[in-house]
Amino acid sequence: MRESIVKEYRRGRLGRLDVCDAQPELLRVAKNLGRESETECPICEAEQLVHVTFAFGPGLPSGGLPLADLRELERKAGRGTTDVACYIVEVCTGCAWNHLLSVFAPGANDR
Ligand SMILES: [Zn+2]
Repeated sequence: MRESIVKEYRRGRLGRLDVCDAQPELLRVAKNLGRESETECPICEAEQLVHVTFAFGPGLPSGGLPLADLRELERKAGRGTTDVACYIVEVCTGCAWNHLLSVFAPGANDR
């Protein structure tokens, strides 16, 4: 999926505005809580991508709760990881490229 988007962009079928649509809020979170990755942005090739984790679940904000790490879930939301889904998004703070990398259930091992 990610590769095909990048390929389409390189072929000129997708404009930068189509692929670099991170919301200002996501960019802000990426700057504050993002973990630097080793990967260069596939679009602007000028910035390193950062990874941001969002927790979704009952009682959490509908847009997801941004987390620096999983321990923060308890501190910020006063709850553990049961019934929580975490989304890892890669973001380029330079050109606003963003892509959902993976989804996992951190509480799956607690049961
Ligand atoms: Zn970029």
